[in-house]
Amino acid sequence: MFWDREVELLPREELEALQAERLRETVARALCTSYYGGVLGGEGVSPETIRSLDDLRRIPFTTKEDLRRGFPYGFLAVPKEEVVRLHASSGTTGTPTVVYHTRRDIDTWADLVARCLYMAGMRKGDVFQNMMSYGLFTGGLGLHYGAERIGALVIPSGAGNSRRQIMLMRQFGTTAIHVIPSYALKLLETFREMGIDPKEDTELRMAFVGAEPHTEEVRRRIEEAYGMDVFNSYGLSEMNGPGVAFECPCKEGMHVWEDKYILEVIDPETLELVPEGEEGELVFTTLCREATPLLRYRTRDLAFVYPDPCPCGRTHRRISRIKGRTDDMFIVKGVNIFPMQVEQVLMGFPEVGNNYVIVLEKVGPMDEIVVQIEVREELLRGGIRRLEALQERIVRALREEILITPKVEFSEPGRLPSGEGKAMRVIDRRGV
Ligand code: AMP
Ligand code: ZN
Repeated sequence: MFWDREVELLPREELEALQAERLRETVARALCTSYYGGVLGGEGVSPETIRSLDDLRRIPFTTKEDLRRGFPYGFLAVPKEEVVRLHASSGTTGTPTVVYHTRRDIDTWADLVARCLYMAGMRKGDVFQNMMSYGLFTGGLGLHYGAERIGALVIPSGAGNSRRQIMLMRQFGTTAIHVIPSYALKLLETFREMGIDPKEDTELRMAFVGAEPHTEEVRRRIEEAYGMDVFNSYGLSEMNGPGVAFECPCKEGMHVWEDKYILEVIDPETLELVPEGEEGELVFTTLCREATPLLRYRTRDLAFVYPDPCPCGRTHRRISRIKGRTDDMFIVKGVNIFPMQVEQVLMGFPEVGNNYVIVLEKVGPMDEIVVQIEVREELLRGGIRRLEALQERIVRALREEILITPKVEFSEPGRLPSGEGKAMRVIDRRGV
């Protein structure tokens, strides 16, 4: 059950002492970068001033903008010839940011990912199909090395090409997959077209899903359709990528590996720490990373920390499902809304299909929210009355959740925009 029993069960006190020691080392490394050399010097922060974990608060936050300003080598702490690989963020929200890795960094990362996969139950003997894109994005190579470390047979299928994905699963008896949740749902259409039942006609037993926010309802849908266990995997390229936080078999929250990261949860407005159990922005500090040490990096991801220990016995704290990024929030008629609130309502309706888009429009001076929803084909053929009744029920349920009345439009399966990467949930047409 444990990849690294001693570390995973380390008593909190020892874990925090280890963090403080590694923080000192990280600050020493960070001082070698031109960015932190200037910033930390200005604040009078040096390894000697880090006596306990509380001294972390003396260090200023690092933001995505800081990383961009430091592009390309401002955050590099080792000579360039020590770097063996770089990854960059997908840039869904602007110019990419880059993270460098030494050989040891890659090794640490692979070990962390192995710890995650082993915790969820993957073993040597599993056939693991990695359906994430290989390249600058970290989902592909990140999980690849961790799975190999466990000794699983890895099929580096990459993203997209749905028919081939299904063929590979059948030919090699794939037992575990790594996939973006919206793509796992989209793939069900291809399964249907090919007349293959993912539950009956494959060996699939588990999936790791991540890279985008998704609700418990979506997890349930994937688990039911495929007949497999689905585990949530959280990471971001600035913190390596996958391997930062992962669900254990209890499936209630994701353990953050605190021997390798310091986690803080802050109020994004006041920048103060929020009490455990309260939602806030996740902030991470790398420990043990050589090439690109990052201090108090503001992720913009919103989640909370579970206040009580996990029944599995691991001492590393758990974060909740990610509600979204602070910049995912949109405002309509003065109300703040997150796409996941809409998803949660929609996926509760069995009639609703597996894709949806939220379109924001201006009608005269007013903002309108139009929710376009895929519905099952049988329903579209079933007569206008039933459709109208469903529409009404969905509008009512959405209004209860988001407090304003949306317009709801139905669409045939496969008609709404979708891709192989992270899903685009909101189209804002108000500015054009
Ligand atoms: P990237 O750096 O391009 O890999 O993107 C990382 C971002 O993807 C994170 O900051 C989150 O916003 C999002 N993300 C990754 N994994 C998850 C997950 N399991 N649940 C929700 N959002 C996620
Ligand atoms: Zn646990």
